[in-house]
Amino acid sequence: LIQLFMPLNFIGTVYREIKQGLTDIEEMFNLLGVAPEIVDKPDAPDLDVAAGAIRFENVSFHYDPDRPILKNISFEVPPGKTVAIVGPSGAGKSTISRLLFRFYDVTGGAIRIDDQDLRDVRQTSLRAAIGMVPQDTVLFNDTISYNIRYGRADATDEEVYEAARMAQIAGFIETLPRGFDSEVGERGLKLSGGEKQRVAIARTILKAPPILVLDEATSALDTHTEREIQAALDTVSRGRTSLVIAHRLSTVVGADEIVVLEAGEIAERGTHGALLDKNGLYASMWERQREADEAEERLRIAQEEE
Ligand code: ADP
Ligand code: MG
Repeated sequence: LIQLFMPLNFIGTVYREIKQGLTDIEEMFNLLGVAPEIVDKPDAPDLDVAAGAIRFENVSFHYDPDRPILKNISFEVPPGKTVAIVGPSGAGKSTISRLLFRFYDVTGGAIRIDDQDLRDVRQTSLRAAIGMVPQDTVLFNDTISYNIRYGRADATDEEVYEAARMAQIAGFIETLPRGFDSEVGERGLKLSGGEKQRVAIARTILKAPPILVLDEATSALDTHTEREIQAALDTVSRGRTSLVIAHRLSTVVGADEIVVLEAGEIAERGTHGALLDKNGLYASMWERQREADEAEERLRIAQEEE
């Protein structure tokens, strides 16, 4: 997300100027002024997370008044459950995650966490309660260890290692000559999209927030890497209220509810099995994905035979 707004070297510069003690990457969005129009109400209390229930109530949203993006969306993520949002590109999926983080305010309806309207609580407390693994992870120009520890500044080396192990990235890190002290980013090691995402997952595992938002974006990865990331994501989301934006349907089969978004509206909703029985949009997306996977598999086998 941040990449849309400014070049990486600028992030690096700003980051270095950020005072020590700032423990949330989300804070950085604030400092960078991504959504300067969002301000706390005077004396806004901290979000009080009890069970961690998320509720979207008749939410409408537009970036630009003559182009509605979300139209009267309602859904709930019960405490500890996983709800997946799927749908064609441009449907408004990532916008839902941005609204939950309050990068923007809804233009109609309300979003509540444990019955508190997001507009009524302090943004820092909201963002401290949510762990976000975004579609495009931006790493700091620093060591891998630093990048993981950013999730919780006081974590020990053992905890950093354990988080990396759970995120399925420790093995890779240990093959590097300097291990966890390897520099990454612009002047350091260039990590692949999947590796960066696993660093972000490790960071989120350390942060251990009650609410998780995952924008998977694993579609560009090979099936093997995707499976590893999926295992890591399953580990983090266990027992946490999770909103998963899924680009590959194979990753949402086990979700408690799947919401199918199309052009800013909920086209269908239900479990994987119920949606297949319905034979609608989800079922046709599933079929298309299956065909694409089979084609990829045939291609791989053909390449191996060459
Ligand atoms: P998805 O994640 O489902 O692919 P998004 O939520 O990213 O879709 O985007 C939904 C629509 O909103 C798209 O048409 C996109 O072009 C538009 N959009 C996204 N971000 C902005 C923005 N900052 N300003 C204006 N339009 C935007
Ligand atoms: Mg998106």
